[in-house]
Amino acid sequence: MSSWSHKYAISLGSNLGDRLQYLRDAVASIEELGSDLSVSSLYETEPVGGPEQGPFLNAIAVVNSDLAPLDMLGELQQIENKASRERSVRWGPRTLDLDIVAYSGDPLDSPDLTVPHPRAKEREFVLRPLGEVWAEAVVGDDLSARAALAELPHDGVESLGRGWLDDQRSKGWVLVAIQFALVAAAAVAIFFGGDLAGFGLIEGFGVVLALAGAVLALWASDALGGALTPNPVPRKDAVLVTGGPFSFVRHPIYGGVILLMVGVGLAVSSPWAVAVSLALIPFFWVKSGFEERHLRMAYPGYRAYMERVRHRIVPFVV
Ligand code: ATP
Ligand code: CA
Ligand code: CA
Repeated sequence: MSSWSHKYAISLGSNLGDRLQYLRDAVASIEELGSDLSVSSLYETEPVGGPEQGPFLNAIAVVNSDLAPLDMLGELQQIENKASRERSVRWGPRTLDLDIVAYSGDPLDSPDLTVPHPRAKEREFVLRPLGEVWAEAVVGDDLSARAALAELPHDGVESLGRGWLDDQRSKGWVLVAIQFALVAAAAVAIFFGGDLAGFGLIEGFGVVLALAGAVLALWASDALGGALTPNPVPRKDAVLVTGGPFSFVRHPIYGGVILLMVGVGLAVSSPWAVAVSLALIPFFWVKSGFEERHLRMAYPGYRAYMERVRHRIVPFVV
C-alpha cells in the first residue's frame, strides 16, 4: 500500500433485474480499481417504503486503491452506468447502487461526496457486511462499524452466506450425488431385505404411503415443468413456481420421495429400507436449506413466498 493509497469500503446494492449478476459484475470491476479485495457475505434486505419495491441484495467490498476519493466515486458511477445501461429500457435505472461508505483517510464533506456516508451508521444492510470484512472502519465521529452495529436493532436483513461470487452448481451436484446414493441404498435394502410374505396392516399402510408419495412427487414435478432440475441451484432461465403442491409446502418433491421410500420399505417389511429412507429427512433438510439460499438470490419473490408457505417439507409440521 503506497503512502497515498487508501482502503475503501464500498456498499453494493441491487433490487432490479438480475440482481446477483449485477453484484458479481460490480465486484469484478471494483477489483480492477485496486488491490487486496475482500468481499462480505451476501445479504437479502427487506425494502423500506415503496410497496412495489422488491427486496435488495447487499454486500460490501473492501479494496486498497491509489485513487483519490472523488476519482473513486467517478469510477463507481461508471460501473453503475454500465450496469443500468444494459437493461435501462426494460428495468429502469436502479439496477446497481455503489456508495463509498467509509475509507481510511480523514472525513470528507464536499458537494458531491461525503465520507463516511452520512446514513451508513443507521443501516444494518451496510454495517453487517462491513463488520465481517472491516469491523474497525470509521462510520461516524469516533464510531467503528462494530460499535455502530451493536447499537442497531436487528431488522429485515438476512445473510445468504459467503459462497455467492462463484457459481455453486458443482456443490449442488455433490448434494445430488449423495441423494442418489441414499436412494440407491434404500433400493438395495428393499430388493435384498424385503419380504413379501405376511402382508398385514403395517404393510398395507406402507402401500398407501408409497402411493401418496408417488402421486405427490409426480404432481410437483409436473407443476415445475421446465424449472425441474436435480441441481438445487436454479437455472438462469427458470421461473419460480408457487402453485399446485407448492402452495402447501416449499419442497413437495422431497416430501413425496420420503413418503414413497418409507412406504415401500414398510410394504416389503424391511427395517433397513425404512431406516435408510428416514435418513433422507435430515438430508433433504440440509439440501433444501442450501437450495433456498440460492432461490432467494435468484428470485426477489422467494422471501414473500417463504412467509406465505411456511413449511418446507411436511404441511403443518416441518
Ligand atoms: P443514499 O445516499 O441515501 O444511499 P442513494 O444511494 O440512492 O441514496 P444516489 O442517487 O445514488 O443516492 O446518489 C446521489 C449522490 O450522492 C451522488 O450523485 C453522489 O454525488 C452523492 N454522494 C455523496 N456522498 C456519497 C458517497 N459516500 N458515496 C456515493 N455517493 C455519494
Ligand atoms: Ca445508496
Ligand atoms: Ca448511491
